[in-house]
Amino acid sequence: MTIAETVTGPAPQPYTYRRRPLIEPDWQRLPGWRHVTRQEWESAQWQRAHCVKNIRQLQQVLGDLIDESFYADLHRDQTGHATMPMLVTPQMLNTMDTSTTEAFYADPVRRYMLPVASDRRTDWPSHPCATRDSLHEADMWAVEGLTHRYPTKVLAELLSTCPQYCGHCTRMDLVGTSTPAVAKHRFTARPADRHEAMLEYLRRTPTVRDVVVSGGDVANLPWPRLEAFVDRLLDIDSIRDIRLATKALMALPQHWLQDEVRAGMERLAAKARRRGVALAVHTHVNTARSLTPLVARAARGLLEAGVRDVRNQGVLLHGVNDSPAALLDLSFALLDEAQIMPYYLYMCDMIPGSEHWRLPLWRAQELQHAIMGYLPGFATPRIVCDVPYVGKRWVHQPADYDRLRGISYWTKNYRTTLEADDPHALERRYEYYDPIHTLPPEGQEWWREQARRAVM
Ligand code: SF4
Repeated sequence: MTIAETVTGPAPQPYTYRRRPLIEPDWQRLPGWRHVTRQEWESAQWQRAHCVKNIRQLQQVLGDLIDESFYADLHRDQTGHATMPMLVTPQMLNTMDTSTTEAFYADPVRRYMLPVASDRRTDWPSHPCATRDSLHEADMWAVEGLTHRYPTKVLAELLSTCPQYCGHCTRMDLVGTSTPAVAKHRFTARPADRHEAMLEYLRRTPTVRDVVVSGGDVANLPWPRLEAFVDRLLDIDSIRDIRLATKALMALPQHWLQDEVRAGMERLAAKARRRGVALAVHTHVNTARSLTPLVARAARGLLEAGVRDVRNQGVLLHGVNDSPAALLDLSFALLDEAQIMPYYLYMCDMIPGSEHWRLPLWRAQELQHAIMGYLPGFATPRIVCDVPYVGKRWVHQPADYDRLRGISYWTKNYRTTLEADDPHALERRYEYYDPIHTLPPEGQEWWREQARRAVM
């Protein structure tokens, strides 16, 4: 026994693991849903028909549980700042803490699904280097909606809608309807023609073995069309990995529990197994409280249907999940209670209006360090930075890091179509930026000086 132990006892662990049963909060506590039955709640049609799309509908659900001042704050955001339209499924709204206005303001799910004007920074609401389509996905389209950024993988954006809209959406350029602050871009080709062009490109590009089928959210594609697309993907010999991207597994688990969808997933999984292809589902859960028994049931249903894995790609967001305990609680809930593999945590991308959500790289590095060693290695999520023009990098991979100005420098080890003719692409350094308000005073002054020069 050490001297310290004889005086104070053993020092506590930074994090204490304990299993926490999942909870489906009682939706009947909310005035607008007082009479909603379990059968209605578990119906995908009922959920879709009762999504909250505007402030009036939110007030109808929450009644006088939340002060008027919140709605005024929300209105200011919707009319002046929001890059995404409002769309919250009942399932997600029900997981927010509505006990008081203060609790609702502080709620992590509320903070990214229903952002209000007072959440945003007034000094630097956007980083000067923030851009729409900050990952330049459209620049790398091989055909419309098919981003070919990595040598062996592509992202197929089948559609530009979701059953829910996240305030921080990295595809704010394209996904969802326009807001007063952002006129969205639109696909120009007909969906059927775009999908056919994607399949045609993949048939003639056998170096691509891995397809992320995404959007938007594939849950918004009518099932027969999604099944037909994946079925034809499975006919392409060179495709060995297919991942379906759907936040709706958490936000609208009722969709994935429908008989038609489950039967269709069984057919796809059986064909994938016969062909030796790994068919997986990727979802997007940011907080442990979003995992309810219904979400776990939907995830288990996919595994029972025969998909190889269900994995989570969350987003690291200030005020939502930026503590070791929040990340470990989330990861253990995913792994233990829903059999969902914690996979990635992305740093929030540099889109306009995201500074209040973004974290500096050093904080992401600290968080990665803090969560190591608790989870099995295969289930320890990697915190990654999606560096513009580079792609995903682990947060400990920068080639250099100027902490004063908050600029990290990254290198890459493959070419995209954009650098096909650039002999120096692999020697270049690509930049990523910390939020300016997190810099030391001299660093913040340096950026103010850059801004002054830019307007002169
Ligand atoms: S589900 Fe994904 S694509 Fe849809 S709004 Fe959220 S982050 Fe964007």
